[in-house]
Amino acid sequence: LATRLRPRLKTARQGFVWLVGAGPGAADLLTLRAQRILHEPDVIVHDALVPEAVVAMAAATPPASMSASARAAIRQSQDEINAILVREGRRPEAGVVRLKCGDPLVFGRAGEEMAALRAAALSFEVVPGVTSALAAAAEAEIPLTLRGTASTLVFATGQDAAGDVLPDWAGLAFSGATVVVYMGRSVASRVAARLAEAGLNPATPVAIIESATLPGRRVISGSLTDLAAYGSGPDSGGPALILIGDAVAQGALGAAEPLVPARELAA
Ligand code: SAH
Repeated sequence: LATRLRPRLKTARQGFVWLVGAGPGAADLLTLRAQRILHEPDVIVHDALVPEAVVAMAAATPPASMSASARAAIRQSQDEINAILVREGRRPEAGVVRLKCGDPLVFGRAGEEMAALRAAALSFEVVPGVTSALAAAAEAEIPLTLRGTASTLVFATGQDAAGDVLPDWAGLAFSGATVVVYMGRSVASRVAARLAEAGLNPATPVAIIESATLPGRRVISGSLTDLAAYGSGPDSGGPALILIGDAVAQGALGAAEPLVPARELAA
């Protein structure tokens, strides 16, 4: 979504782009720096996963001169988004905020955007955000590292588990690492099969956190064996993270929903 917030004075000065992490969902998990910068832009370009409440903070900020208008739905390719950032950033005196969920540098395609901005000789700054893995772990009280149990933490994408090659992070799961799988819902059963084939203990604890810090939050727990069933049930539509590793068992998962559907447990 691109929202034009207010007209700017026309001068010859170069524009500026901020790549800002909006955090995992709850508006109060935004950093103070991000909040300050949200007062700056005249244009905000954001992903669908960025909550309205955070976008509204920008629109609600400075008084009279702000005209929140021109909201165009953009579900564009990365090339098109890069082109929007360059085009908007080149306007004289432009202030462009590129708002991304979580942290911009974690599965946020910020690498491509920074390259495009550099190529266009536009100045930019990256503002970190709370990545969803940290919010998910906090909500389920799961220690991501644990003395004597987990000394490595992996942020992985599930998407590479769809191919024929074992994902490069799979080996780390054996050494006790806590693996957090982003974008894993549709490939959950594949991830489970891959890790099991590779010899990871089927009893390895697994937790899934859907919509961390958002309404509709769900915490689901089980084992690597059970993970195969995830993704086949009804989709809540919310974003989901899969946490795998021995340290996951230390979480407050007493009230979590079981990963295996109840009908299967009864069978
Ligand atoms: N830059 C983001 C990640 C973007 S990739 C970050 O740092 O968090 C999108 C994936 O992030 C989703 O498929 C999901 O796996 C995860 N995600 C984002 N927000 C989430 C939330 N509130 N709860 C659970 N998972 C979330």
